[in-house]
Amino acid sequence: MAQKKFKTEVSQLLNLIVHSLYSHREIFLRELISNASDAIDKLRYLTLTEDACKDLSFDPSITISFDDENQSYLTVSDNGIGMNDKDLEEQLGTIARSGTKKFLEQMEQESKKQANLIGQFGVGFYSSFMVAEKVEVLTKKAGEDQAWLWTSSGKNAYSIEPAQKDSHGTSITLHLTDDGKEFASSWQIEQLVKKYSDHIAFPIYLDYEAVSWEGEGDKRKQKKEHTRRQINTAAALWKRPKSELTEEDYHEFYKSLSHDTEDPLFYLHTAAEGTIEYTTLFYIPKQAPPDMYYADYKPGVKLYVRRVFITDDEKELLPPYLRFVRGVIDSEDLPLNISREILQQNRVMQNIRNASVKKLLSEFKKISENNPGLYEQFITQYNRPLKEGLYSDFANREQLIELIRFKSSQQEGFTSLASYVERMQEDQKAIYYVAGGNEETLRKSPLLDAYRKKGIEVLIMDDDIDDIVIPMIGNYQEKELKAINKSGAADDLKNDQDKEKEKDLAPVVEKIKKALKDKVKDVKISSRLTSAPACIVVDEQDPTVQMQQLLRAMGQNPDDQIIPILEINPDHPLVKQVQTADDEGYIENISSILLDQAYLVEGVMIKQPVDFVTRLNDVLAKHLNS
Ligand code: ADP
Ligand code: MG
Repeated sequence: MAQKKFKTEVSQLLNLIVHSLYSHREIFLRELISNASDAIDKLRYLTLTEDACKDLSFDPSITISFDDENQSYLTVSDNGIGMNDKDLEEQLGTIARSGTKKFLEQMEQESKKQANLIGQFGVGFYSSFMVAEKVEVLTKKAGEDQAWLWTSSGKNAYSIEPAQKDSHGTSITLHLTDDGKEFASSWQIEQLVKKYSDHIAFPIYLDYEAVSWEGEGDKRKQKKEHTRRQINTAAALWKRPKSELTEEDYHEFYKSLSHDTEDPLFYLHTAAEGTIEYTTLFYIPKQAPPDMYYADYKPGVKLYVRRVFITDDEKELLPPYLRFVRGVIDSEDLPLNISREILQQNRVMQNIRNASVKKLLSEFKKISENNPGLYEQFITQYNRPLKEGLYSDFANREQLIELIRFKSSQQEGFTSLASYVERMQEDQKAIYYVAGGNEETLRKSPLLDAYRKKGIEVLIMDDDIDDIVIPMIGNYQEKELKAINKSGAADDLKNDQDKEKEKDLAPVVEKIKKALKDKVKDVKISSRLTSAPACIVVDEQDPTVQMQQLLRAMGQNPDDQIIPILEINPDHPLVKQVQTADDEGYIENISSILLDQAYLVEGVMIKQPVDFVTRLNDVLAKHLNS
């Protein structure tokens, strides 16, 4: 029988595959099943379009059989279109596919070390040689009489000879290498089919002689039993029309996909047709995934290409702030063997990703408008990741601002910026918020009092990232967002009377400033304190004191202490004491107490508690004695 030489590029490719993809050699089965499925797809199309094939009786199926006794071989058969001798030569003897050619060209230019690039291009059929020392392709083309056998040991030659085969289709037998023998196992095959090919649209059967042993000692006897069973689900749920699917179908699929025991909060099924064809099915879990705040969270979206599983470990399928989404993306246009590196830059993938984000965000919006109860459940779980989107997803920032929610000094539960603005007082200049620290501390902030008295609503921002992301919003509906615990908001509440008072009290301010020296950036008369004697605010550009504490806890700029501005309440007796006092030591005591207690109220530990207590006792003693 005549041996034919592979085209040099095939030899090169074979060499590369065997050496660079070795750790992923299990993918050979996915490739063979995918080819079988393609071959059936092609024949199915012909039976629909070609008169000559219309009468072909054809019950599509893929069968995997193997040698259970000796693990010597594994066969993947299909009843698809098959190949004739010319096809065999063209398809399996050369590299017909442009993608692989391009790959080889690139390899030549870029040094052969970058073998991992190979994942970008379909390695397909040749991946069989990672587990086989010899591959036989027995095939008969639909509508032809002659069958053919293609044989190769994968070095640099192959042969094609006439053969016998009853019906159309292809049977590919891998004579396994020692390393490949592990795949001749019903357990392994089922695992791999479940993992990679469960949703191939045709049934995949496992068909083999199961070997077992009976009896004891001398009477031990081998028993063989023919087994045939379907091992895939054979229906990609996401490819079925919505109208055919019940809510229960969706929920069951979600559970099998996510391993969640609960039903999802809601889901979103989209089939996109047009220049880029793909299907997405996304689910929002009721409970945020437990690893949502870990850097090494497990992504929840699986990528399929034409119903063939590609990966479930790709964090870039959706932006990280949507990492709580579970589901499937199935593209018609991506190459089957796309690698991670390439995936992230792939234009088709980018398009799918962008469109998916838009779809999800507009679904969230719809729910916020039509189903407030459901939205509340959603936002309770996912407000915080959505906020991350404010700084990571500039393109969708406008939408995200509408989606995120805030706690409020006046409202129960959550409020949106839009409804805050609706409730704003006529002459209110800005959207006020207080950030940094936990909800309880924030709600007790002495600064809130004045706003409460004036009926001005203040948003309570207790997420640790609020301090970073909220200033990035800047303006909303032309209203500035102002942190009341920063200096910029202080002047808004002042009226003419307050300004008059400021002038009168200038000497007090001076005394305290002198006493506190560089412990404060400035001392100001507050128009927004009612019962508390003083409070600290930070300069507009500085992080709040809580933020500084957080940064220090994370090991950042530990000694770069930011100096606050002290706001004093002119009506408070302690402040009035300063007004009348002359004794510098006494003024210093009171000034320090004002500053330290303002820190304490903010939930910030003061540096010298002993000092504070001593000063406090001095002042108390003086007044008790007088
Ligand atoms: P791809 O599937 O990307 O085209 P492969 O290397 O997997 O690349 O397969 C090469 C070619 O061999 C296929 O395009 C097809 O023409 C042919 N082929 C492989 N397996 C089969 C099969 N089971 N039935 C019919 N043709 C096949
Ligand atoms: Mg293929």
